[in-house]
Amino acid sequence: MRPISKECDFLVIGGGSGGLASARRASRWYGAEVIAVEAKRLGGTCVNVGCIPKKITWNAASLAQNIRDAKAYGFSVEQRAPFDWGAFKKKRDANIKNLNDIHERSLKNDGVEYIQGRACLIGKNESMIKLHDGTEIKVNAKKILLATGGHPTVPPSIPGAEHGINSDGFFELEHQPKKVALVGAGYIAVEFAGMLNALGTETHIFIRHDKFLRTFDEMIQDGIVSEYERVGIHIHKNSTLSRVEKDEKTGKLTLYYSDSTGQGKLEDLDTLIWAIGRTPEVEGLGLDVVGVKQNERGQIITDEYQNTNVENIYSLGDVVGKIELTPVAIAAGRKLSDRLFGGEQLNASKLNYDLIPSVVFAHPEVGSIGLTQEEAEKKYGRDDIKIYKTSFTATYYNIMDKEDKGLSRYKLICQGKDEKVVGLHILGLASGEILQGFGVALKMGATKKDFDSCVAIHPTSAEELVTLK
Ligand code: FAD
Ligand code: NDP
Repeated sequence: MRPISKECDFLVIGGGSGGLASARRASRWYGAEVIAVEAKRLGGTCVNVGCIPKKITWNAASLAQNIRDAKAYGFSVEQRAPFDWGAFKKKRDANIKNLNDIHERSLKNDGVEYIQGRACLIGKNESMIKLHDGTEIKVNAKKILLATGGHPTVPPSIPGAEHGINSDGFFELEHQPKKVALVGAGYIAVEFAGMLNALGTETHIFIRHDKFLRTFDEMIQDGIVSEYERVGIHIHKNSTLSRVEKDEKTGKLTLYYSDSTGQGKLEDLDTLIWAIGRTPEVEGLGLDVVGVKQNERGQIITDEYQNTNVENIYSLGDVVGKIELTPVAIAAGRKLSDRLFGGEQLNASKLNYDLIPSVVFAHPEVGSIGLTQEEAEKKYGRDDIKIYKTSFTATYYNIMDKEDKGLSRYKLICQGKDEKVVGLHILGLASGEILQGFGVALKMGATKKDFDSCVAIHPTSAEELVTLK
């Protein structure tokens, strides 16, 4: 059967955060003829197996923690309220399905033609889309955007590694694991460990070094390790897994590992979760057919305008891998459409990748923007940097027992005579909500003096940032 043929101004491959944002902007704002293709579910990683189901689960975990804390405030509550994981998952899934439908309606409302299928480049301006029923659609497009995201990195080839799941599998779990092991030291491992522990799962985390979040400021690395130790997460530092065994009768897993103390074994695990990074989704995309260049990690190489090396082919978001966050993919997608279709006035539009705030939804949250102390010292020299930092106990903990009190840690990194704030790092309750406004301040070039001139809001944690000495 001959493929159906279509033509458009802009073919967007990948209906995730970046692709959807770019497609909708090009069509709705600038009247471009746009086709968007998605192989799985609209909304991509963020909506289906990322930010959204994660944040809903994080909310549940925070509630579990708050219920326990309520006792200290005089409420007659159980230490651990029973939690119906199955019912919770059903509601979470329904919410995601609703978001999938909303995205489909939004594409329609914005005049984007949506095709559900897998796309592959077959020429510089040509792509073949294979639908689930086998139908093929050949699209001739003036411009093509590759926004195909990524997937969890395949675990190392140790015997039994396949008995583990990844972050996608976590969201499919029908029952709460009683005992879990995570491997990894980044965003996902730290977030999942915090959530599972707060929900009452015995949580073990295996890290190759002795700290988590090693791209973050050292204060954050130390702070999160010490908070996780305080709440009873079992951290297996400097460890390497050598084998995973599954008892076929019970389904339980045993992990064999080595660490600085020698060989170890962890038995009776319900679930093992690999969280060791993400790999760009490029297989079968036809990059080699048209000669789109990739780096050594397989990520698509672009310039600052999201141009690949092939004319009229662009790329952004996780598949490019610069900063793997939803708002980054969205902003890059919109800027690209502004540039390509917004006329002369916008033909230099591009995303500025500096000073992008980021939050790790750990327990407690971590917020970070700008340079770490190490980066600032390297960039400006130690003598040109001034550090302001504090650690404190948030008022929330005032009437709790000593061992239940979390410690917040804040740090400002200032540079030059004017003490321009070039880095801001916070760990503690509500950091996720606190960071956004300070992100605006840093974008505007705020100095320490500007921070000091803002009257504090009392009693809050955030006030510590404007009263640092
Ligand atoms: P994606 O959202 O991955 O979309 C790419 C889409 O392309 C996918 O739907 C895929 O099916 C489709 N596709 C791939 N190949 C083809 C093809 N050949 N044809 C057609 N379609 C194709 N970021 C945050 O900012 N905050 C968070 O709290 C956060 N939490 C996260 C939690 C987890 C567990 C994970 C895994 C990620 C999280 N992220 C978070 C990161 C965020 O989800 C990603 O940065 C974001 O989704 C990237 O958007 P994207 O458009 O580049 O790719
Ligand atoms: P990350 O890149 O954040 O972290 C993965 C870490 O795992 C590495 O840094 C490494 O740490 C460790 N690691 C790598 N290989 C191995 C191995 N073989 N064995 C043991 N440990 C290993 O990846 P994630 O998968 O956690 O998340 C992917 C991306 O998704 C994040 O970078 C982030 O951009 C995004 N994300 C954002 C979130 C948010 O905004 N809140 C939440 C979740 C994800 P080390 O070198 O220290 O061993």
